[in-house]
Amino acid sequence: MSKKQFKAESKRLLDLMINSIYTNKEIFLREIISNASDAIDKLCYLSLTDDSVGLSREDFKIDILVNKDERTITVRDNGIGMTLEEAENNLGVIAKSGSYQFKGEMDGSKAEDLSIIGQFGVGFYSAFMVADQVTVRSRKFGEEQGVEWKSTGADGYTVTPIQKDTVGTDVIMHLKADTDDEIYGSYLEVWKLKALIRKYSDYVRWPIKMDVQHQERFETGEKNDDGSPKYEYKMVTENETINSMIPIWQRSKSEVTDDDCIQWYKEKNRDRKDPCALVRINAEGTVSYKAMLFVPGEENENAFSGDNKGGITLYSNGVMIMEKCDKLVHDYFDFVKGVVDSPDLSLNISREILQHDRQLRIIGQNLEKRIKGELEKLLKEDKPKYQEFYKNFGNDLKVGVCDEYGRYKDFLRDLLIFYTSEDRQITLKEYVEAMPESQKVIYYATAASVKQAMSLPQCEQVRSRGFELIYLTSPLEEMVLENLHDQDGKTFCNVVTDDLGFETEEEKKAAEERDIENKELLDFVKESVGEELSKVRLSRKLTTQACCLTSEGPLTLEMERYFRHGPSEEMRKVRATRVLELNPEHRAFQVLKEAWDSDKEKAGKLSQILYVLAEMTAGMDVEDPNRFAEQVAELF
Ligand code: ADP
Repeated sequence: MSKKQFKAESKRLLDLMINSIYTNKEIFLREIISNASDAIDKLCYLSLTDDSVGLSREDFKIDILVNKDERTITVRDNGIGMTLEEAENNLGVIAKSGSYQFKGEMDGSKAEDLSIIGQFGVGFYSAFMVADQVTVRSRKFGEEQGVEWKSTGADGYTVTPIQKDTVGTDVIMHLKADTDDEIYGSYLEVWKLKALIRKYSDYVRWPIKMDVQHQERFETGEKNDDGSPKYEYKMVTENETINSMIPIWQRSKSEVTDDDCIQWYKEKNRDRKDPCALVRINAEGTVSYKAMLFVPGEENENAFSGDNKGGITLYSNGVMIMEKCDKLVHDYFDFVKGVVDSPDLSLNISREILQHDRQLRIIGQNLEKRIKGELEKLLKEDKPKYQEFYKNFGNDLKVGVCDEYGRYKDFLRDLLIFYTSEDRQITLKEYVEAMPESQKVIYYATAASVKQAMSLPQCEQVRSRGFELIYLTSPLEEMVLENLHDQDGKTFCNVVTDDLGFETEEEKKAAEERDIENKELLDFVKESVGEELSKVRLSRKLTTQACCLTSEGPLTLEMERYFRHGPSEEMRKVRATRVLELNPEHRAFQVLKEAWDSDKEKAGKLSQILYVLAEMTAGMDVEDPNRFAEQVAELF
């Protein structure tokens, strides 16, 4: 029988695992037990609708078998099992979403890299930290034949069809020989295994059973001289359940601290970072349920398996009924992870029913209120942490505001924060509260980055009046403001496209007259630049800069820039209606005017240069930078 090779990345991981200066080897047991528990979850779920499973809830268990002579520990489950193909696919590679990122991180094998494995293990493979041979014997529910998968580590594995009487999986780990540093044989001690199970797997919902020996006293039937009964002591073996089996979320706050929950979350999700918020609910009333929810600190790149998105697992009295219930909370809270357990939910609930289930809707609404409350608290009490959260998941909230025609905007409004010219990130409420009496609207500017927004020439006038400006960095944020419409009655003013409202009636009139006076020159500038420019006018917003680019109509320059990198040809063609504004007070305008009087050719070139300068300050790509460079050089 030929040996098959592990896929390259798995091999590298195995090498690391086996040879690393790895200190926390004991977590291997947790990993193997947790796989067994998942496999039982799956078969138990199936048994709800399929009588042929022939097992009821009480029958499921995980056995830990120790053979000191053979130096083996076996973790046996009567869960769903694996077919030959599944064994090969699931155990032969770490072909899960996170593995490439992981590999990337591992390159360079720094001490810090190694700690990643140290903290989380990588599931099944962690067995090789303590074992020099791992044998998996499995039979899938519904299959006649079983499979044996065997490996001694990095040199590959074999798979063979076998006969196996029972459905489920045995993972048999042959322990490595003891070394000076590591007594692998200690894992054969029952007390040690018991301690490890209690430490890491106490909350596993299925009984983890092990034969435990202890001394018992028996009466011999004979009497001592003083007439008291004679005893003898015998070793008896009892099959004990080691774990308490009560899921962590079923336990009260007095029994399980928040730190315990956080630890549980980190282990379950293989997340290095603490979550930034935790919600624990024990609700009794119209609908009873327990919930334990987490807002991750960041998107979890270190999750080697499964996808990284959040997800709430639904349980009914401790039986998992849906692994990822995405209908429970709206998409804007998609990042939330955790569990909801309610005895009121029907066991064989389907996705269709879920959407219409009244109890679930009530639960969902309550969860959302609590999540929001927790986020608001975080925003108030730990701004830097909230900013970190917002960096990672703020987009979900922003999309939520725009979703379904702004239906959820008021629910989400106070969770949004924006960068401002005061170098802070605040809510719109805070912005409005800080507004001086004389300020009537909320000013904002959009650019590709805060830095670019700051240097937009149109912002000058607003800032010079001491008004704070919101800097938006994406068209999505523009859409958010559009959907929000106003904040406490104050509407939004785009400093690039909207009237800033600073001019008196007289000033407006004077400006209009000035436009008429200069009409011929402005038309000339437009002609010189060409078709892409729709209009040229004299600016009423600029103070120190010579010119700026703005737009008319609903499509802003920001949106244009966004669409230019869009996926379809059609999107990339989208253009804003461009308007060039010239500052009549600036020397550049005087020079242009003089040239227009005396040297039309020069005036044409100056027009083109001014246009490109305006494009640049607006953060737009310059189509032909070489030509621009030549034109500027010619001026000398
Ligand atoms: P993870 O459990 O994080 O997916 P593992 O490396 O621990 O990653 O396991 C890989 C896969 O092998 C599991 O997802 C599962 O499909 C399968 N597997 C492992 N152990 C068992 C088991 N005891 N019973 C059934 N399938 C198992």
